[in-house]
Amino acid sequence: MTTKVEVPPSYDSEDVEQNAPASSPQNDSRYVSSRASPYNTNPIEMDCPHCQNHIVSHIERCAGILPWIIFAILAFLGLFLFIIPWCFCCVPFFLDQLLDVNHTCPACKKFLGRFSRV
Ligand SMILES: [Zn+2]
Repeated sequence: MTTKVEVPPSYDSEDVEQNAPASSPQNDSRYVSSRASPYNTNPIEMDCPHCQNHIVSHIERCAGILPWIIFAILAFLGLFLFIIPWCFCCVPFFLDQLLDVNHTCPACKKFLGRFSRV
């Protein structure tokens, strides 16, 4: 039951489709990790889009997704496998390196942007 449909030689659309998504996967992962966001963990100097003042953003740390992921892993290790004390579960929420940073305008108190770890 082998019915081979012969494609006429002038039919080249298959080659075109293969070339289209040719962006190499290595560059892709690097692109995601260095996602261009003007916001980082430090206050930045900028013009507020709300009140048009030239301000240095006020930063506030808050728990994003990353501490919760680590919390889940630690909770699993501590509560089910007893590898670590369960009280370590809350540690990620106190590590600045894991927290997202919200930038707000000190003049008009409006939200400017967020530096996200994930
Ligand atoms: Zn403002």
